[in-house]
Amino acid sequence: MRRPGIDTARVTLLTDKALVLFSGGQDSTVCLAWALERFAQVETIGFAYGQRHVIELDVRPRIRNKIAGLKAEWSDRLGADHIVPLAALGAVSETALTRDTAIEMASNNLPTTFVPGRNLVFFTFAGAVAYRRGLKHLVAGMCETDYSGYPDCRDDTVKAMQLALTLGMDRRFVLHTPLMWVDKAATFALARDIGGQTFLDLVVEETHSCYLGDRSKRHPWGYGCGECPACKLRSDGFARFTAA
Ligand code: ZN
Repeated sequence: MRRPGIDTARVTLLTDKALVLFSGGQDSTVCLAWALERFAQVETIGFAYGQRHVIELDVRPRIRNKIAGLKAEWSDRLGADHIVPLAALGAVSETALTRDTAIEMASNNLPTTFVPGRNLVFFTFAGAVAYRRGLKHLVAGMCETDYSGYPDCRDDTVKAMQLALTLGMDRRFVLHTPLMWVDKAATFALARDIGGQTFLDLVVEETHSCYLGDRSKRHPWGYGCGECPACKLRSDGFARFTAA
């Protein structure tokens, strides 16, 4: 089924190279496969900022290896991985993602997991790495549809960052957010469209979304505590995907 706003057709830009903001979560893993279908070379970047769900960083190499094992052309195109230490971001963020405090809705209607400006910092460092590596395209999993209203996940924010990076580094950057207008159910469907059942199984089994870093409980939708906002989004999305 074609869904509005998703281009599932294969459009390979063989001469262009991309950098994927790859956290090891469900969304960025789908974005990585999306990029591997399109670009001649795809590198990945991850950030260590003191997140409580640091287990994300542990699952990244295994996901990269398994993705490379799914298709020969994906293996050929998958390039270097870059880990950027950003402890300063955790140090200035009094949030539930970086402190041992409750994950809940705060008075400003944002969850206490909100790290102010996190994605602005991520894009800036990604742009610097992309500049140095000659990568024109930045691919990231931001989503306006069901992402708790984080302002730095909005389409206008991403468009502003594309302009800021292009002007500020005097180099043409193109920022892609293939999940911007789709919900979690459609993200599972997109995973299956891109890489079939084997890739969908990989997304469920290997990617990590739980804010608490819990991988002790296996649900139909993957591992997690089952209670935090990230687990709820993922489980609700998977239920709607399998019911469709
Ligand atoms: Zn959880």
